[in-house]
Amino acid sequence: MQDFDILVVGAGIVGIASAYHLQRNSPGKKVLVVERLGDVGQANTGRSNAMFRNTFTSVDNQTLASSAIDFYMHVQNDLGIDVGMDSIGYMWLMSEAQLSAAEGHIRRMVANGVEVKRYSEEELRRAIPGLETRQRSDDSRLMSLPDVAHGLFGPKCGRLAPEKLTGFYRDAFVEAGGKILFNQSARKLLVEPRDRIGIDGEPFVWQRSRVAGVELADGKEVRAGTTVVAAGAWNNKLTDPMGTDGHAKAKKRQLFAVPAGGVPLLGDLLFAKGFNPSGTLPFVILPKSGLFIKPVKESNEFWIGCEDEVNRPYMSYPDDDLEKFLAEPAYYENDIHQILKEYLPQFAGVRPSRMWAGLYSYNTLDNMPYVFPEEGLIVVGGDSGSGVMKGDSLGRLVDAVYRDGWDAEASLYGDVPYRASKLSFAHRDVEREDWVL
Ligand SMILES: Cc1cc2nc3c(=O)[nH]c(=O)nc-3n(C[C@H](O)[C@H](O)[C@H](O)COP(=O)(O)OP(=O)(O)OC[C@H]3O[C@@H](n4cnc5c(N)ncnc54)[C@H](O)[C@@H]3O)c2cc1C
Repeated sequence: MQDFDILVVGAGIVGIASAYHLQRNSPGKKVLVVERLGDVGQANTGRSNAMFRNTFTSVDNQTLASSAIDFYMHVQNDLGIDVGMDSIGYMWLMSEAQLSAAEGHIRRMVANGVEVKRYSEEELRRAIPGLETRQRSDDSRLMSLPDVAHGLFGPKCGRLAPEKLTGFYRDAFVEAGGKILFNQSARKLLVEPRDRIGIDGEPFVWQRSRVAGVELADGKEVRAGTTVVAAGAWNNKLTDPMGTDGHAKAKKRQLFAVPAGGVPLLGDLLFAKGFNPSGTLPFVILPKSGLFIKPVKESNEFWIGCEDEVNRPYMSYPDDDLEKFLAEPAYYENDIHQILKEYLPQFAGVRPSRMWAGLYSYNTLDNMPYVFPEEGLIVVGGDSGSGVMKGDSLGRLVDAVYRDGWDAEASLYGDVPYRASKLSFAHRDVEREDWVL
């Protein structure tokens, strides 16, 4: 196998966006992506809810997401490449107490240019068909379901098509001269002395060592000047064995597709008017357990999921095969459906027609992504459930670190400066994210 200047492991949104920016900004360099599946975006990126928002509590997250959203809009509107951007908006339904607790965050969002619009309970009842804002049933009391008193609407939020977005990056990367090796897994990172002296057992502790590429599952080696580990939930499997903490904690997340056909009130809900140009319900977050409802008009269904933190284990070394992580019908029935039918009774008795699961990759320190270099290595990940919407910004940061080192100042889309070291561990300087869905 020939040598490369840069090798990127993983072709999810983060890996393929990184490869694209690396190749574009270093046109003379040979860049290779190694991906164990058959195409880009087939793992967690393709299994995600594919929503985007700039309504984060962390100003850093607002910046990273906002710039990436602007780039995706630019691709669609200016370059004429459909990546499925559909600004349906996010509607956070909140109790009185939740809104008061969020006021500080909202003020800071507005100060940072994040547009939000408030809805009263009355406006919400008129706009969202069937919404029960007052929770008075025995079941509601048992579950401590709060009343809905307010709505916070984010218009620069919506949904995208991850297969189209990653397809855009793949095609542009290949057109710029990049190469992709699909169906090939990187088994381990190659660690070597910078200056080899030819004695068995190198590298010794007194030698300066570096990552020199990867060994593939078939035993072949791919050598590279810089190796970028963008393997998402599987980062630790490559970095930990060489003594570099991959900082990825995986957790299963599930989505349930519920058909809107056959129940007229569900159809009315799906196509609730007045929120967005698409004429659909926005992405709605209920005031309990982060339960969310995504309208998918093409397939006439809702995708429904929930914060799933308690009793759901973290995994440092998850199985490579995502098919082994199954969605659980009982989780829909006993957890999600119980809350859902109280706020939107038209869902009572309605069951999902399909369901699937994927992995969130958390950085449990602050729920914020990380990008950091070691000798011959750049590690990127920890996007904590919002990596699709920040993928472009993370790709630009990887490229900036490659070209200018750990303290590089990246230029995010829209000429937004962002210092890469803020997302490192040695010089970390980011605000914690509290609104993880
Ligand atoms: C149910 C669910 C809903 C979500 N909803 C959203 C959402 O609405 N919005 C949002 O922005 N994010 C969402 N996320 C999170 C989002 O999916 C991730 O943040 C994002 O996909 C991370 O991208 P990635 O490229 O790091 O990971 P991945 O897409 O998982 O890509 C990693 C790639 O690396 C490859 N790989 C791993 N190890 C190796 C190896 N050793 N050799 C070769 N290849 C390897 C994998 O095959 C994979 O293709 C959701 C996630 C889930 C599970």
